[in-house]
Amino acid sequence: MGRVFVAGSINMDVVATADRHPKVGETVAGKQVLYFPGGKGANQAVAASRLGAQTTLIGRLGKDSFGAELKAFLADQGIDLGYLQETAEAHTGTAIITVAASDNTIVVIPGSNALVAADDVRVVPLLKGDVAVSQFEIPLPTIAVFFQRAREAGATTVLNPAPAQTMSRELLALVDVLVLNETELGFLAGVELSEDDSAARIIEVARRLQARADQTICVTLGKRGVLARAGSEEFAVPGRAVKAVDTTGAGDCFVGALAAQLADGVALRTALTFANAAASISVQRMGAGPSMPTAAEVAAVLN
Ligand code: ADP
Repeated sequence: MGRVFVAGSINMDVVATADRHPKVGETVAGKQVLYFPGGKGANQAVAASRLGAQTTLIGRLGKDSFGAELKAFLADQGIDLGYLQETAEAHTGTAIITVAASDNTIVVIPGSNALVAADDVRVVPLLKGDVAVSQFEIPLPTIAVFFQRAREAGATTVLNPAPAQTMSRELLALVDVLVLNETELGFLAGVELSEDDSAARIIEVARRLQARADQTICVTLGKRGVLARAGSEEFAVPGRAVKAVDTTGAGDCFVGALAAQLADGVALRTALTFANAAASISVQRMGAGPSMPTAAEVAAVLN
């Protein structure tokens, strides 16, 4: 059975709730402050680990109290932190989120995540059958080295290009499985796409983005589920009808679950059905990390 290696971001999400957002220059009294472990790398590693995959997280924390808290949380999730580094050169990545009147504003300070370097990923002991996962919250040249190494070792590379940013064709060609939502797909393909676009249009754009004949592109569509183009095969996994209460981290749950399945040697279509079910459970709970399901919970939904 393969293992999952995630090279990615780790953040402390500091959430302030208030009745209304302050205007520029104004101070308002808030109601609550909440601290949630976050960052796409950490969230995806938590999802994979909860689902039973042997999971390693490669990243950087600052030498500060958020770093110490996050490290304890990740260890508690059963994630291998042997390749996690602590740096005195930056603070731990932090997201400052203000929630008021069901709208939010977010300021993210990448901090130590911006320092995840090529040397950090070069030493990772990837083997054939392993799965290497990354996202766009660490430097792209680091991801390129990570994926190059993974492909040399015979591991499968999974990229979640979020938040969207321009990437080179060379980096895209190192990706075996690309997982993105329709907005990110539109951005990378240079076209406008919205959640109301037809499946035919979305898959047509995915087809154009495909960088290698054997590349898989999975487009997550929220409650509509997922569309995939795998090589020249195309199929849809319909969304599950559930009552969503918080979709934060749904995409991360999906990516972590898919990676765990691929590391287990499960065929793509079955893996996507599993990831779709896992993510549909996560949206029925609050938060990102704490909403990730266990394998038993996913099995119960699929049976
Ligand atoms: P992102 O948060 O990255 O935009 P999506 O919103 O596409 O990701 O959600 C990722 C996956 O989570 C979907 O493909 C689906 O499996 C599941 N999901 C998201 N929202 C819902 C929902 N309202 N009902 C059921 N499943 C959902």
